[in-house]
Amino acid sequence: MTDSFKLTLDTDLYKGTLSVNTGLFINGEWVKPVEGGTHDVYNPSTGKVLTKISAGSSKDVDIAVNAAKKAFKTTWGLHMPGSDRGKCLLKLADLMEKHRDELAALEALDVGKPYPVAWRADLNASIGTIRYYGGWADKVQGKTIETTENKLAYTRHEPYGVVGCIIPWNFPLLMLTWKIGPALAVGNTVVLKPSENTPLTALRIAGLLNEAGFPPGVLNIVNGLGPVVGEAIAYHPEIRKVAFTGSILVGRKIQEASAKSNLKSVSLELGGKNPNIIFDDCDFEQALKWASIGVFGNMGQVCTAGTRIFVQEGIHDKFVAALTAAAQGLQTGTGDPFSKTTKHGPQVSQIQFERVMGYINDGKAAGATVTFGGEAHGGDGYFVQPTIFTDCKPDMKIVKEEIFGPVAAIMKFKTEEEVVEMANDTSYGLACGIFTENVSRAIRMSHALEAGMAWVNCYGTSEYQVPFGGNKQSGIGRELGEYAIDLFTEVKAVHINVGFKL
Ligand code: NAD
Repeated sequence: MTDSFKLTLDTDLYKGTLSVNTGLFINGEWVKPVEGGTHDVYNPSTGKVLTKISAGSSKDVDIAVNAAKKAFKTTWGLHMPGSDRGKCLLKLADLMEKHRDELAALEALDVGKPYPVAWRADLNASIGTIRYYGGWADKVQGKTIETTENKLAYTRHEPYGVVGCIIPWNFPLLMLTWKIGPALAVGNTVVLKPSENTPLTALRIAGLLNEAGFPPGVLNIVNGLGPVVGEAIAYHPEIRKVAFTGSILVGRKIQEASAKSNLKSVSLELGGKNPNIIFDDCDFEQALKWASIGVFGNMGQVCTAGTRIFVQEGIHDKFVAALTAAAQGLQTGTGDPFSKTTKHGPQVSQIQFERVMGYINDGKAAGATVTFGGEAHGGDGYFVQPTIFTDCKPDMKIVKEEIFGPVAAIMKFKTEEEVVEMANDTSYGLACGIFTENVSRAIRMSHALEAGMAWVNCYGTSEYQVPFGGNKQSGIGRELGEYAIDLFTEVKAVHINVGFKL
């Protein structure tokens, strides 16, 4: 028998009992890890332990891969028609809708994000992603290719087989859906490792899989530490593809593991130090609101966060004052994710809290001016004030490195040419934002900036129909939309001789 996490909440926003099995979910069943490991999961709003959770080892990954392999060969993959695979995903989306309050509460508890944000933004996008790929499951098509009259040549988009998915803690449920939605729709089976910081929603989803009709072994959830379970997935000789979201540091390790094991296909969604560029001729109020969400949303723990804010000289001072007022508003609404007044929660963990404070202190020491914030907030939990730096120089760490916290570095610019140079002066290339009412400039800028995604007069709004991913060191491959169908399939070219004789 595996253990469960149970908690009754009686808050402004959520009243009810949360219950999650804390075992590993392998072959359609809850099991204990072979070596019996556990680790603690913390509540970032209090800094106290929320629950103990099973921590697997490479032995559990082996068992999960075998279950996934068997399911691929017998019940899923191309043994089940795409329309039936789609039905399982659509049913899962319905079950997520039914359990929306509970999933949002678990996400708010585990990550620290305000419950209404989790309920609306995270759940809408997560349910939508599963439903979207449920629709794709019977629409995967190859091409016929004309060569000569004597040949019929066509392509098939075939699933890899067993796919490994490794996800981070900032959007635990959403990242799970971005991986399993397309991977399962096209017929792969999956071994997924959630982040050790935030495993609760993945486990709750595991609890819905049998009811949704997924055969055993199609989706296996193996919790555990990155260097143990994650590494076992990355090196596993029977896993044909790994889809990873996380840091550049670990992304490199995943590539290395692929090179040293079976040359598995690797797709990487990594970090960013994204420029958000505000021209004098923008709609000021709109630019301000988007920029504020872009840098402080999810407590800055967003890979696409617009953390380098370039403001044209004519509106620079006015913009700094207005963003400062916006940060003040967030600061007033900092606190418990289940309170109606909360707009800004904690960082996810003690490690992240210390990391963010380290960057803030570095910025101060390097001579940048703290225009707002710059301190921890309150005594308990991992809260950091929304922080704005001005007088930032290109070689400062707060300008060069991803902080993954609510920290804005504002820089002034004069011309379009100058800001393109400044914005592209980074090893990252994930996203960028451009605020201008001049449509020619908007198009010029979105083409000139080195990034996988460009937002014009909005920021950070990703949609499951539209590809997502980075250039340069921000990643390899594109998730979401039809592009993810390619990401999780291999192309086979079939040549049929219809008359040519030797
Ligand atoms: P991380 O790289 O530390 O961890 C990500 C996942 O990898 C976790 O599940 C972790 O357990 C696992 N892991 C750790 N060491 C491993 C190893 N040696 N082998 C295999 N797996 C291992 O990242 P994080 O701290 O969880 O997340 C923050 C980072 O993720 C940021 O850099 C952020 O930019 C990035 N991120 C990117 C995107 C994107 O779509 N581009 C989205 C979210 C987060």
